[in-house]
Amino acid sequence: MYRSFLDPAYTPEETSAELVFSGGRLDRLSEDRSEDCVAEALTDPATRILGFARGRVFIRFEGDEARCLFEAVELDTFGPQMDKAVMLGFDNGAPRLAVPLSINPDDEGFELPEPFKAIDYRSIARQGLLQHDAFGNVAYGGALLAWHATNRFCARCGSPSEIRAGGAKRQCTSCEKEHFPRTDPVVIMLTIHGDKCLLGRSHHFPPGMYSALAGFVEAGETMESAVRRETFEESGIRVGKVTYHATQPWPFPHTLMIGCYGEALETDIVKDESELDDCRWFSRDEVLAILKGDGPKNSDGEPEFFMPPPMAIANRLVTDWARRQ
Ligand SMILES: [Zn+2]
Repeated sequence: MYRSFLDPAYTPEETSAELVFSGGRLDRLSEDRSEDCVAEALTDPATRILGFARGRVFIRFEGDEARCLFEAVELDTFGPQMDKAVMLGFDNGAPRLAVPLSINPDDEGFELPEPFKAIDYRSIARQGLLQHDAFGNVAYGGALLAWHATNRFCARCGSPSEIRAGGAKRQCTSCEKEHFPRTDPVVIMLTIHGDKCLLGRSHHFPPGMYSALAGFVEAGETMESAVRRETFEESGIRVGKVTYHATQPWPFPHTLMIGCYGEALETDIVKDESELDDCRWFSRDEVLAILKGDGPKNSDGEPEFFMPPPMAIANRLVTDWARRQ
């Protein structure tokens, strides 16, 4: 038995550890794997498998409980593609795998037999269907399988590549170059000026939703530079001091959201019309009222403004700022 990286007597207390999708605690042991570790795991009765299909995770409802870990035999009739299965790691020595299923929930009229469902990651998070550590494993498995599905060819020579070390890497069948799973860093920042914060809405947001601005960290940038550049590009606001808040794994498809606060050096907004439908300052009192559902209403009696759901780091960024005195 290996020695776990996480001390069982220690519970992480940072903000990140409280966010949905952040509860993964498997011992990955990526450096210590044999080439047949997946096949080996399939002979171990303690092995449990997560099933995935097109951005959805396979769930079995048992009363009020939802279960996403299965024995191999339970997945047999749902088309597990075992040649694409990946090893996620070990939970107290018990292997955990992720496998893509051949079912296509996007097919018209597709329905799984009761009590099974294939549910997209946002919906399971919004509904709080799983335990904290299970959400972490869903984010991990979903992200890793998505990376493998879109990296089947060598980025150096274009030849097919193959899964190695149970999915901890791929290797080119021609030039033998190794390729490692990628995580894309995205900064998401709440820009503050005195008692106001800057929120915007993309063209694709539902009407009334405002959120923190966000964007990919680009080559050669620090986290702080990315915050300043993205905020300026989207809102015309220049930012000074940047502080870190928390991170959240975000399996759409394999991103790490890096939450930050930025101190605005100016207040005149010049929004990027192609990116944003609106961008404006909100006072702390406005934000507190909106979070409580006591914000302004439109002529239909619906809230004029609302924030992303609590599952998203954007909500936590805004909430932590608004409640801070
Ligand atoms: Zn190659």
